[in-house]
Amino acid sequence: MNPVYASLGTTIFEEMSSLARQYGAINLGQGFPETDGPIDVRQAAADALLKHSNQYPPMMGMAELRRAVADHYARFQGLPITPDHVLVTSGATEALAASILALVSEDDEVVLIEPMYDAYRPLVERAGGRVRTLRLAPPDWRLTPRAVEQAFVGSPKVLVMNDPLNPAARAFDQDEIALLAEACQCHGTIAICDEVWEHVLFDGRRHHPLIGMPGMAAQAIKIGSAGKIFSMTGWKVGFVIADPALLQPVARAHQFLTFTTPPALQLGVAYGLGKDDAWFADMRAGYQHSRDGLRDGLERAGFSVLPSDATYFLCVDLRASGIEDDDRDFCRRAVEQAGVAAIPLSPFYAGSAETGIIRLCFAKPYSVLADAIERLARMKFR
Ligand code: PMP
Ligand code: GLN
Repeated sequence: MNPVYASLGTTIFEEMSSLARQYGAINLGQGFPETDGPIDVRQAAADALLKHSNQYPPMMGMAELRRAVADHYARFQGLPITPDHVLVTSGATEALAASILALVSEDDEVVLIEPMYDAYRPLVERAGGRVRTLRLAPPDWRLTPRAVEQAFVGSPKVLVMNDPLNPAARAFDQDEIALLAEACQCHGTIAICDEVWEHVLFDGRRHHPLIGMPGMAAQAIKIGSAGKIFSMTGWKVGFVIADPALLQPVARAHQFLTFTTPPALQLGVAYGLGKDDAWFADMRAGYQHSRDGLRDGLERAGFSVLPSDATYFLCVDLRASGIEDDDRDFCRRAVEQAGVAAIPLSPFYAGSAETGIIRLCFAKPYSVLADAIERLARMKFR
C-alpha cells in the first residue's frame, strides 16, 4: 500500500457514523441533513433520468449545468464567469483531488489551514507535496497578518483554503480574504478554494470568494458542491471554477479520475441553481433556526458553545464546559453512554492537535436535537 494510505485509519466521519449505528445513537457526527432536499430539484433529476440520455455526458460537464453554474455565481457572488470557466465533477471531493493532482508535484510546498477538512492532507501528500500549516486558534479562528506572512515564507506553490471553514464553522471576513489574496499574489501561489459551504451562512453574513478579489481571477480555483447547496449530500455533484488556462490541467486530471458525473443529477442541479433568491434565504434561515436551538439548549445544559457563522455545525469547548476528557475520549463516551455521536476536532490537525473541542451537526429536526441535548446533559452531570 502507498505509505500515505498505510498511515491512515478510516475517516473520522465513517468511524463515528458506524459507532452511531452500532450503539443506535443519535448521529450528530457526520454532517448530513435529516430531511431530503427540495422536491422540485429531485423531480427535475427524476424526469431527466427517465426522459434524457443516460449515456456519457461531455467530460467538462453538461452544457445546461455549466451555463447554470456561471449564471448562479454571477447572481450570488458577482463573479464574471462563463461556462468555459466551469468543470463539473463528482462532488467537491473529486474537484479537490483533480485540482491537487493537477497542480502539486513532488516536493512542492502546500499551505493548509488548521483545523483542516480531512481530505486535504492525504491528497497533497499522495501527490508528493509537503504540507505547511497555518494554524487558527479558537474561539475566533481568525486569520492574522502575522500567521499568513509566516505560512507564505518560501513562496509555497499552492494554498488550499476552506471558507466557510469546516469543522470550525467560521466564515472569514473580507479583510481576512484580502490577506490571503495579497499573499498569493506576492508569492505567485495558486489558491484552491473549497467553498462548499458558501450558501449555508448565518446572521446576514455574505460570502467573499477569494477568486473575486482584485488580481485573483487567474490565480484561484473555486470549488462548490450541490450536495451542500441543496441539502443532498449523497448527490456528489461538484464544480470547479477557474480561468480556462488554469482549468485545463484540472480537467486533464478529472478525465482520468471519474471522467463524468451522472447526467440526470447534473440536470437536476442545473434546474436547482436557478431557484429564486427566496429559496436560498429560507434554506439559510432554517439552518440558522436549528443552530440557535442546539446552541441555546446546550448552553442551558451548561455547555460552552463556540460561535457558528456557517455550515451545519457548531463546536463545544470541553474545558470551558468543565469536562476534562480529551475530545476523542469524550466522543467515545458520548456515543457509548449517552447515545449521541459527535466529531472530535483533533483529526483535523496535521501536527500537535487541539484536543478540547468537539463538533455537533444541527441539521436535524428540533425534537432530535432536544433529545440529544438531554442525553449529553445527563452524561455531563453524572
Ligand atoms: N469540503 C468540505 C469542507 C466539506 O465539508 C465537504 C463535505 N461536507 C466536502 C468538501 C465534500 O463535498 P462532496 O460531498 O461534494 O464531495
Ligand atoms: N463533510 C462531511 C462532514 O463534515 C462528511 C463527509 C464525509 O463523510 N466524507 O461531516
